[in-house]
Amino acid sequence: MNPPAEIPVEMRAMLLERPNSALVETRRPLPLPQAGEIRIRVEACGVCRTDLHIVDGELPQAVYPIVPGHEVVGLVDACGPGVVALELGERVGVPWLARTCGCCEYCRRGLENLCDFAEFTGCTRDGGYATHLIANAAFCVRLGSRWTDPVAASPLLCAGLIGWRALKAAGSCGRLGIFGFGAAAHIVAQLARWRGTEVYAFTRPGDRSAQAFAMSLGALWAGDSDQRAPESLDAAIIFAPVGDLVPIALGSVRKGGRVICAGIHMTDIPRFPYRLLWEERQLVSVANLTRHDAETFFDAAAGAGVHTQVRRYALGEANLALDALRGGRIQGAAVLVPD
Ligand SMILES: [Zn+2]
Ligand SMILES: [Zn+2]
Repeated sequence: MNPPAEIPVEMRAMLLERPNSALVETRRPLPLPQAGEIRIRVEACGVCRTDLHIVDGELPQAVYPIVPGHEVVGLVDACGPGVVALELGERVGVPWLARTCGCCEYCRRGLENLCDFAEFTGCTRDGGYATHLIANAAFCVRLGSRWTDPVAASPLLCAGLIGWRALKAAGSCGRLGIFGFGAAAHIVAQLARWRGTEVYAFTRPGDRSAQAFAMSLGALWAGDSDQRAPESLDAAIIFAPVGDLVPIALGSVRKGGRVICAGIHMTDIPRFPYRLLWEERQLVSVANLTRHDAETFFDAAAGAGVHTQVRRYALGEANLALDALRGGRIQGAAVLVPD
C-alpha cells in the first residue's frame, strides 16, 4: 500500500470580496466536507462569461464575498459522511448547478434547472478559482477515464453543458446560426456538425480571427453580426450578452424558426417590430442545467470527439484571464490551473 499523500493544511483561493473589484489571493484552512459533500483538489477551472457578470455585480442571486468558478475539474480528496457513489482519487467535474431542493414544484416536474431554492457554484457558494473546493457529491459529474486532460475538459462543465442545453432547445435543424463565437459556441459548433447541422457563425463586426476560428471548427459560413445570413436559418442561438442581437437573430430565422438566448445576463433588448416575431417564430431562453443534461452531454461530447481550445493561466492570474475574456482576446476558453 502506498503511504498517504501529504495533505496540505491550508488552501489558496482567488476571492472576489465585492462587485467591481479585483480578485485577491487568500489562504484559508482546508475545509472538511460535511454529510453528502466531497472535497476536491482542483486540477483546472474554466473562466466563464458568467464570472464577468458576477464580478460586475449583474446577477441578483450572487453573494459576496465569493470564490468564482463553476467549470471545475479535480480529484476527490475527502468524502463526507454518507458519500458512497464517489471514490477518493476519482476525477470529477463540478458544474454551475450546485444543489437543488428536490421538492419545489419545478424539481417535482423534472425542471431542477428552475428550482426555486437552487444554489450555484461560484455564485452562491464558493467555486473553483482555488486549489480546493467543497461540493455536493450528488451534483458532481463523474468524468471517468474518458476525460484524461483536466484542462481541456474544464470548459465542458459550463460552456459545453449550457451550449448543449441551447442546442437541444434549437431542436432538429438543418441550418443553425450562432451569435457570439466564444467558449460555448466553439463546443456547440462541433456538436452541431456532428449532428449534420450547418453552422452559420456571427461574430463582433470585423472580428476576422473569430470568424476564421469558426470556419476551422466546421462552420459553413462566418461573418459579422450586422451582416445578413446567406440562407434563412431554422434556429439561432445567442451566446453574446448583447440584447441588440435579438431582433437581428429573429430576422435571420425562417417562419416557425426559433431564437434561443443562452446567456444568464443580457443588455436590454431594443424595441422591434412585431413582424420579426410573426409567423410563429419563437423567442426562448435556457437557464442553468439539469443533471440529466450532464449525463447526455458528456456522452454526446465523447461521441462527437469534441476537443476544446484553451489558454492556460496560473490560478494567481485570474484577473488577467478575466480581463482577456472581457476584451475578446480569448479564442476558445481560458482555464485557470493551480500552480
Ligand atoms: Zn427545487
Ligand atoms: Zn458558465
